[in-house]
Amino acid sequence: MDAETVDAVVIGMGPGGEDVAGRLAEAGLSVVGIEAELVGGECPYWACIPSKMMIRAAGLLAEARRIPGMAGASTVTPDWAPVAERIRAEATDTWDDTAAVDRFVGKGGRFVRGRGTLVAPDRVEVGDQAFVARRAVVLATGTAPSIPPVEGLADTPYWTNRGAIRATEVPARLIVMGGGPVGAELAQVFARFGSAVTVVEAADHLLALDEPEAGAVVADAFRADGIDVITGVGATQVTHADGGFTVALADGRTIESDELLVATGRRADPAGLGAGVVGVADDARWVPVDEQLRVADGVWAVGDLTGKGAFTHVAMYQSAIATADILGQDHEPADYAALPRVTFTDPEVGAVGRTEADARDAGIDVAVGVAQVSATIRGWIHKADDEGIIKLVADRSEGVLVGATSMGPSGGEVLGLLTLAVHARVPITVLRTMIYAYPTFHRGVEEALRDLDL
Ligand SMILES: Cc1cc2nc3c(=O)[nH]c(=O)nc-3n(C[C@H](O)[C@H](O)[C@H](O)COP(=O)(O)OP(=O)(O)OC[C@H]3O[C@@H](n4cnc5c(N)ncnc54)[C@H](O)[C@@H]3O)c2cc1C
Repeated sequence: MDAETVDAVVIGMGPGGEDVAGRLAEAGLSVVGIEAELVGGECPYWACIPSKMMIRAAGLLAEARRIPGMAGASTVTPDWAPVAERIRAEATDTWDDTAAVDRFVGKGGRFVRGRGTLVAPDRVEVGDQAFVARRAVVLATGTAPSIPPVEGLADTPYWTNRGAIRATEVPARLIVMGGGPVGAELAQVFARFGSAVTVVEAADHLLALDEPEAGAVVADAFRADGIDVITGVGATQVTHADGGFTVALADGRTIESDELLVATGRRADPAGLGAGVVGVADDARWVPVDEQLRVADGVWAVGDLTGKGAFTHVAMYQSAIATADILGQDHEPADYAALPRVTFTDPEVGAVGRTEADARDAGIDVAVGVAQVSATIRGWIHKADDEGIIKLVADRSEGVLVGATSMGPSGGEVLGLLTLAVHARVPITVLRTMIYAYPTFHRGVEEALRDLDL
């Protein structure tokens, strides 16, 4: 197949690839951007943005239900129709990426719809077209849902995040398999819109990668929302008959639902992309990258595919570094020590850097400080929905924070201060002399600092 030579080829135009491709095109390079589905990737069409619209709507319902005892009386009648319509019209343009394609082409890029394969370090094939990249190939193909090998599951019409986001009706009963961020966020949304939701999580607490205290507070909040939370038990078999699902659990119980959402993590497919031609092992889960996001000479990778954190902000952070590296510009190497992440449950769970267990495993001399949001003055004022914690994980010998969790109302916003502290290694002595506005939620950080034994 004859190949056309260009400066750069980007495979996968999600948040990472779209950003790299656009930046390179704006810098004057000839860039081919290849996308199999929709330019913009998972985030705007089936993930971050529509899920946060659902959460905003569910949060309004929850807030209205808190009026009794605090501000009068309320009657709440949930209606999913405006949520589904907002996702269709405002978030996804009916799952149409014309505007995103035009944006890329407007920057000078050339767009090719199709599934790209790396066939040599500098050569990409897509359908009956082939491109040779003079300067860079960027791999940015993201992840797909990881489906566990539960007996019978593959033969059923289960939802992944895509089915949940496209829902035009709220199921009467919903089982959510997986109590990580995606499962937890969507479980609470559907419960607040009237679904009888059961969450099944094989680990012994929800949000298994976060502090156990955070998972426990979320579980309590879920039970208050009427969600049945089952932890420490996996599903062993799934069947679908007469429009309903039956899930058998390892402890012998069976549960039933009208829809089943599988949210048990994500997986990349480096081998399917052809990454073997640059030395990536066939069974590799991710494409290994160095601090410049390089995979091999002339090949870079960004986003979920790199396994450095499946977040849009990671993809975009990496894309800025990869772009600078490709253009020969100065840049700081990638550093994930202060990687922030927010699970937008209610209460919100913000976290940055290491958890306590992770810090201990790394051999750090750990000190921990905790404040309960409900015991802060702002939590007490807030009253309804004041559950949460601020937990600080410090390196005693260095006198700095290496991780933190800020969970509670606006927990993801309070996290900004803690992310800066971890990122800039602000000495704890300096954090303790800062003035914290009264009565904010972030004053809880000052109380947690006081609790730190150092
Ligand atoms: C329900 C849900 C909610 C989320 N919420 C948040 C959130 O609130 N905040 C946050 O930061 N992150 C969130 N995420 C994660 C976020 O969506 C991802 O981290 C982000 O989309 C990753 O971007 P990416 O560019 O690496 O890949 P993707 O968005 O996965 O895009 C990769 C693109 O590559 C394309 N592709 C794959 N293979 C090929 C090929 N061979 N050729 C051509 N194209 C190909 C795919 O079609 C896709 O469009 C959420 C995820 C889910 C599932």
